[in-house]
Amino acid sequence: MNIRVIALDLEGTLISNAHSQIPRPGLRRFLESCKALVGRVVMFTTVDEPRFRRIASQLVKERRAPHWFAEIEYIARDGETKNLALIPECQAEEALLVDDYEIYVHPGQEAQWIKAPYFDAPYPADDKGLGITLNMIFEKVLPTRPLGQIQLAFAKMMDHFGHILPEDDVAQRRRGRIGDPEDGDYGYGDSVYYLFGQDDRGEYLDFYMLHRIAGDTHGRIREDGSYEGLDVISPFGPVRSSDPEEDARLRAKDQAEVNRIRSMLEAKGFPSCY
Ligand SMILES: [Mg+2]
Repeated sequence: MNIRVIALDLEGTLISNAHSQIPRPGLRRFLESCKALVGRVVMFTTVDEPRFRRIASQLVKERRAPHWFAEIEYIARDGETKNLALIPECQAEEALLVDDYEIYVHPGQEAQWIKAPYFDAPYPADDKGLGITLNMIFEKVLPTRPLGQIQLAFAKMMDHFGHILPEDDVAQRRRGRIGDPEDGDYGYGDSVYYLFGQDDRGEYLDFYMLHRIAGDTHGRIREDGSYEGLDVISPFGPVRSSDPEEDARLRAKDQAEVNRIRSMLEAKGFPSCY
């Protein structure tokens, strides 16, 4: 069944605990990715609601969490476990519980549980727990969707930036862009262009990510999730030679190659940094 709701634990998953309230590294990006993925993210914690609201407001104020986190839907427990059937207008099978602690998983809902690695003292700044958790969520949510392996491979490749293909674009095989090219210093991961296509091997996604320093990334993800790199214009320019004749030959060769790639990118509507 399609996952429509992600229910999040608080202590040991998103923050240290309700006393010290140390936000887990990558919290904001994690919350934004969950929201982009399913639209409905709810809080399912043993911390009572007034206390949770105070913690959430503080995290928003410190910009550790997106603004909506302060008003996130709060699911009140009924019993010792976190029964996903308590989420209004949602079947238990349509929800995931993200929690570090098995004891809260409601009997029969083990398959809906994503075990977040416990965020433990001394709460290292390089803790990777939320990134690991997000990838587990991707594995559960994305493969059941249209072009699921393409969506999964793309999300995993882009997990550092939190980019997820918009569901509508995938459903309609519509080209698009994620991010604003005017934003960011170097363009790294700030904007990604994509389009859908089909050839004799099936459907695919082509994407193009701008990076003014390391060079752009151009690639194709096929229906089975496999990836192949495609041509980009090198940011490093032609190979040079001290022999003027050889140098001229190398430059001409490089220019021809640049022209070939540029016209291919233009045909696809992908803007090169070079
Ligand atoms: Mg916990």
